[in-house]
Amino acid sequence: MILRTNIKCLTCGELYTTRISIGHQSRQEHTFICKSCHEEIKIGLDLDQIKIDWDFECVSNCEVTKEPGHIINFHPELMIPEHLKNSDFVSPFLLQAFNLTKNLPHENPDEDMLKDARFVMNVNNEWPSLKQSWSLKLNKKDILSSKKATEEGNSFRYRVQILDVYEWIYQFSLRILQPKLVHLYDTPMKLMGEIALENPTAFHDFKNFYTTNWLNEHSRKFYNIYSEFFKHFNEFNQIMIYHRNDLGIPESYTVTSTNFNDLKHAYGNIYESYTSCLAFIACLNNLKNKRNFNKFATMDLKKYLSIDKAKRADPFKDVACFSIFSECIDSSLRNASHHGDIELDHTTGIIMYKSGKSKHQNTITYTEYLRKCIDIFTRSVVIFMLELPLTR
Ligand SMILES: [Zn+2]
Repeated sequence: MILRTNIKCLTCGELYTTRISIGHQSRQEHTFICKSCHEEIKIGLDLDQIKIDWDFECVSNCEVTKEPGHIINFHPELMIPEHLKNSDFVSPFLLQAFNLTKNLPHENPDEDMLKDARFVMNVNNEWPSLKQSWSLKLNKKDILSSKKATEEGNSFRYRVQILDVYEWIYQFSLRILQPKLVHLYDTPMKLMGEIALENPTAFHDFKNFYTTNWLNEHSRKFYNIYSEFFKHFNEFNQIMIYHRNDLGIPESYTVTSTNFNDLKHAYGNIYESYTSCLAFIACLNNLKNKRNFNKFATMDLKKYLSIDKAKRADPFKDVACFSIFSECIDSSLRNASHHGDIELDHTTGIIMYKSGKSKHQNTITYTEYLRKCIDIFTRSVVIFMLELPLTR
């Protein structure tokens, strides 16, 4: 269903006719830059998915008007062909339904997996509840945290009984990887299992070290990563369907909501916590190479933890099953965001950021920026899913 509303820019009076496709969340927001005054305009929809009812809201810099204006299309979960983003006749759903099914494998997907994949689309309802249970755990309120997890976690129809927040995070994370990204987790998990079987004593030492020294610190870092990601889920959700199905971003398609002001530090913020937690993978790699978890090829763990975060993936970047954890690291983008050297050109929709001492100018589309954030978030999800079984 497409909802049509005329609005006026409060800064310059430019008129727009918004065509908003209804998604699966209880709230969706869309942000765009006024083509005349280049100020940001934000609109929102509160949705009642059961009664099929909605409330349109002018969130900032606009008001509803009777007069029609420039057409602008929004879809909360799909991209729109670049040349049709201002068309009055486009149906993003019909266009993408064809494109997506064309790319999906024809084997019979597991029915439970499909159910799980659909369920994660309601993530906006589940995350606030999970977040609180996680926060209680971090603040050592274990009983309250588990009470919330058992009472609320089980209402999200998992296939296992949720007994504490770590089980809930694990199951929730698994849904993020479904239907087509579970292999990112399966491969290193299988390897970790082999290491534990081949050298149980060395693995036991690592497990003890992890639960004593890193569990609480990493849990807090992953909490920050998940919080950063779900704060902006509305924007990321425009391309999540392509990501979770392991498909490339379709060429000549674009996202139409562009909330760069809120998102410009997202990659850098996730990067900081993510690169700290890479030590877990580095230790696994040591065990894989039949060394103690804290013995690297050329240094010890203390030295490793003192090296620049941009180099924390170096010990395993060429190891096939661990290289996925280094590919998502873009230190130039992180540095630019950290030093405020990143801007969106409102006329072209291109992000420009400077890197290195030479201040080399890099460019990236907003969609590609979203993709980079999602990639590093997904790798974070995988690392925490590898760590969580060590708490059992
Ligand atoms: Zn304007």
